[in-house]
Amino acid sequence: MNSATPGTPGTPAMPPDHPSTTASAPAADSFARLPLAATTLANLEQLGYRSMTPIQSAALPLALAGHDLIAQAKTGSGKTAAYALPLLARLDPKRFDTQAMVLCPTRELADQVAGEIRRLARGEGNVKVLSLCGGTPIRGQTASLEHGAHVVVGTPGRIMDHLERGSLKVDSLNALVLDEADRMLDMGFFDDIATVARKCPTKRQTLLFSATYPEGIARLSRQFMREPKEVKLLAAHAATKIRQRFYEVRETERLHAVSLLLNHYRPVSTLAFCNTKQQCRDLVDVLRGQGFNVLELHGDLEQRDRDQVLIQFANRSCSVLVATDLAARGLDITQLEAVINVDIAQDPEVHIHRIGRTGRADEEGWALSLASLEEMPRVARIEELQRMECKWHPLASLTPASAQPLLPPMITLQILGGRKEKIRPGDVLGALTGEAGFPAAQVGKINVTEFSTYVAVDRDIGRKVASRLSAGRIKGKSVKARLME
Ligand code: ADP
Ligand code: MG
Repeated sequence: MNSATPGTPGTPAMPPDHPSTTASAPAADSFARLPLAATTLANLEQLGYRSMTPIQSAALPLALAGHDLIAQAKTGSGKTAAYALPLLARLDPKRFDTQAMVLCPTRELADQVAGEIRRLARGEGNVKVLSLCGGTPIRGQTASLEHGAHVVVGTPGRIMDHLERGSLKVDSLNALVLDEADRMLDMGFFDDIATVARKCPTKRQTLLFSATYPEGIARLSRQFMREPKEVKLLAAHAATKIRQRFYEVRETERLHAVSLLLNHYRPVSTLAFCNTKQQCRDLVDVLRGQGFNVLELHGDLEQRDRDQVLIQFANRSCSVLVATDLAARGLDITQLEAVINVDIAQDPEVHIHRIGRTGRADEEGWALSLASLEEMPRVARIEELQRMECKWHPLASLTPASAQPLLPPMITLQILGGRKEKIRPGDVLGALTGEAGFPAAQVGKINVTEFSTYVAVDRDIGRKVASRLSAGRIKGKSVKARLME
């Protein structure tokens, strides 16, 4: 297997004959260094993509040159564009056959990815991107496929279904992407992925993206990839934006210590990781008992309930999201002030991945870990991996920063009616700021799902908004709205 692991994110050196003396020479991490169409570059500019992220500057030159690729980087590092730009670059929108396919572990991620690819494709003419996942009637999808889709994004099970029915044809496929490959393996999709990959033309590019590198990845790559290049960006982030602190706890004080941390640091949004489902449940009980606004993300949730939990957390209506690693994998939540490791992860790479979720972009974040004596060997392995000693602080140093309970700044209203009723975010914002007279500054994120719309508003006006909405109209129809508490 070839290896092109970049030492530093700065990558590739300017070729010597490059006219680097002219003022217009693009910076090392500029998209303009890549063989991309001018319209694509202009679109990237429009999207606010000023420079490549480290995984993009490592992966894009290789992928655009046609190599198979195994790329590993943490969540939120910009992996989608790292594979979407190469597959869009090769796409011919004038042909109507399916030219690229992206496999994702869940519907949620597939929808996210499809949306991102559509945005990135704006510079390429009329590119159709179709999402194919379970939980949606297959007939509607078959009809959409008949109209042609240049790129399909979906879960392995549903894609396999369409291949077997013959509703999806992949004879002209150029590129197959396995996104969140580690999570797909965790979810038992190995055989489905294998079936799908075998149906694809052998002469194709295969790109595999993953946040971690478990055993099965090597197996997948041996079977389905051709001399893949490897790009790994691991652990390098830990030192920069993330302030890590460790606290030693006795087993009996662990859950209570979480509330001490919350009251001391008072983060708006915290993701709390436990190693087991039972620990998640116990923590939720303890925190609720103390008046915290907390939700749990676990594998047994129906898709709709999972959506509701994620929406409330991402729109800042919930202070703490409690989850196991499995349940939290692949979440893309941008503003996260803190990650709490309620238990120390078994695997040091998992620890690095957990804490990489805080301190995104220009924000600083806290990574707070509770460790018992029995967990010290795990902490030692973390120190080895991050090549840095952990900083310990005594539990006794944690004092409440305020006498007020920690409350989320927003509250979510659920409006019955969604995409099916053709409701768009603008309709809801219009209803709130128009007749109802609420200032736009008090309205937060608006999420429209198939049957429901969720809108976050300042916590103090939640009740008023709920009663105004229920008395008023959206798109000329009266609606039902309720506060989610
Ligand atoms: P990952 O798949 O690694 O978790 P995503 O591809 O979902 O990460 O990207 C995370 C966020 O960063 C997205 O909101 C995306 O639009 C944004 N993003 C990606 N690349 C860039 C870039 N070069 N400049 C600015 N924002 C970017
Ligand atoms: Mg991703």
